[in-house]
Amino acid sequence: MSRKPLIAGNWKMNKNVAEGAALAAEITAADIDYSTRDVLFAPPFTNIYAVSEAVKKNGGKAFVAAQNVYFETSGAFTGEVSCDMIKSAGAEWVILGHSERRSIFGETDEVINKKVKKALSEGLSVILCVGETLWEREAGTEVETVLAQTGKGLEGVADLSKVVIAYEPVWAIGTGKTASPADAEAMHKAIREYIGKIRSKEQAENIRILYGGSMKPENAKELMAQPDVDGGLIGGASLKAADFLKIINFDK
Ligand code: PEP
Repeated sequence: MSRKPLIAGNWKMNKNVAEGAALAAEITAADIDYSTRDVLFAPPFTNIYAVSEAVKKNGGKAFVAAQNVYFETSGAFTGEVSCDMIKSAGAEWVILGHSERRSIFGETDEVINKKVKKALSEGLSVILCVGETLWEREAGTEVETVLAQTGKGLEGVADLSKVVIAYEPVWAIGTGKTASPADAEAMHKAIREYIGKIRSKEQAENIRILYGGSMKPENAKELMAQPDVDGGLIGGASLKAADFLKIINFDK
């Protein structure tokens, strides 16, 4: 089976409501062949509704994701947001385990796994982020680290049909440094083989694995040409319509 590329924009803590709606409107007004690629916007919580409405006005073909969600259903969890809340605002996806959540907010593999299970049980699709630090790469433990994060993040999840993995080497996020296409491919292949071992060959073949870490118009085509790279999770370059569109149309 051939995997449909997914081009996902992680806006992080950028864009207010009006700015976010305008960016989503500008991108979805452009010529995009949604039959050959999926497109996703992950705005801050406060923008999910407005971005979803902007997407709907232009045909409703792009997906909207939250950048995080809490694993409880409701209650006394000040500052947290539930799956039901993001769904009611228009999100069908959620990004979990981003390295900024891990390093700045102290999210562990156990917490991320709880979130993955909760999100899937509520019908959301999940982008699970994994990636090694520079220190881990220099110590030669990058594959071990990434596979451990993958296995722990997916513990107890038998069906991976609504899961996408994003391999994001931490040293490449927002730094302008990109993994070489060969390094990205090697890690993606290792993740796919690992999924084959812990689940099944079929699930390994079907799961999409995105690359993230300074993906931009200049390097998207070469990264996307790697056989196990099925799309991108893009931070900085997803904030400018022209740049993100060039990545969406990486093969044009
Ligand atoms: C990210 O935050 O997921 C990311 C890959 O950021 P950037 O593209 O800016 O490196």
